[in-house]
Amino acid sequence: MSGKNLMEKITPASGWRELTVGAAVYGEGNSVFFNTGEWRSEDPAWYADKCRHCLLCFPVCPDSSIPVVGGKRRDFDFGHCKGCGICAKVCPFGAISMSAAEKEAAK
Ligand code: SF4
Ligand code: SF4
Repeated sequence: MSGKNLMEKITPASGWRELTVGAAVYGEGNSVFFNTGEWRSEDPAWYADKCRHCLLCFPVCPDSSIPVVGGKRRDFDFGHCKGCGICAKVCPFGAISMSAAEKEAAK
């Protein structure tokens, strides 16, 4: 069962008999259904004018929160970014900085 199908089948009204053993999640690709960016304690900021689209930041993000379209990076997916700062560490051009999270977060 895909992650999407699993999420549609289980609702807040579901009884325990409808859950999997141990509430294990077997359907892949379900993280998109959860706004986990609200856990973030630091916000990354991207400076498009400094970015050279080398894409070094894209593969190191553990939450796939750096969208790339047509070979160019776009602004962060704040709905899923955890604020780990790895992207800022790897950027050789100073195009990413980190700061304390604004608590309305999950933009
Ligand atoms: S590592 Fe820096 S320069 Fe390279 S794509 Fe990411 S933000 Fe842009
Ligand atoms: S701060 Fe961490 S989670 Fe957020 S975009 Fe950068 S590498 Fe990804």
